[in-house]
Amino acid sequence: MSVDVAWAQAWIRSSAQVLSEHRAELNTLDREIGDGDHGENMDRGFQAVLPKLDAVPDAATPGELLKTLAATLISTVGGAAGPLYGTAYLKAAAAVSGAAELDGPAVVALLSAGRDGIVLRGKAESGDKTMVDAWTPAVDAAIEAEAAGAGPGLILAAAADAAEAGAVATEPWVARKGRASYLGERAIGHRDPGAQSTALILRCAADAAAQ
Ligand code: ADP
Ligand code: MG
Ligand code: MG
Repeated sequence: MSVDVAWAQAWIRSSAQVLSEHRAELNTLDREIGDGDHGENMDRGFQAVLPKLDAVPDAATPGELLKTLAATLISTVGGAAGPLYGTAYLKAAAAVSGAAELDGPAVVALLSAGRDGIVLRGKAESGDKTMVDAWTPAVDAAIEAEAAGAGPGLILAAAADAAEAGAVATEPWVARKGRASYLGERAIGHRDPGAQSTALILRCAADAAAQ
């Protein structure tokens, strides 16, 4: 499908569904290197946006939906992930504001602004073992795919593949940001939960465009 408001509806709704299905798995990852609530946090935030999506007019833009999601996550999700994802969606929304349909460069701008929002908010660098380690490879892959002439759907698919690989790559690392950083070497061997939720969410974005 076109990357338009129907895509944004499908992206957010499927994210809510997938995060709910993976709630226990994300909690388990967070139990290994954090406080065990990442699945719960993400599920609560995305469930809270669903009734608001019903009220969004068909004439809304993808940016307006992402702004609604951002505000909901910031107000309903306690913990690190709420403000981090909230800022990501807010900056992503601003990057595509006004556009009814997103072309390849707009999809790259959306992803890249989302990642920049997380970095602005959380100050993590690549390799710190956070969600940035899924977002940054996703943005790099999106830029590369767009430069090679891919359209929005293939750009999102490339980003999703890279985010999944990025999440897996966090496993052998020591964490330098967030709760996991208190564990030192005990974080080694565990995947970062936020990187994993990012991989799930970006896969939903790609799948929504492939419908
Ligand atoms: P909390 O740690 O407050 O319980 P969550 O469990 O919901 O919050 O989220 C934890 C995730 O947040 C981590 O797995 C990591 O990906 C991400 N995170 C934590 N701190 C930062 C940061 N400074 N920058 C980027 N991501 C971070
Ligand atoms: Mg936690
Ligand atoms: Mg917590």
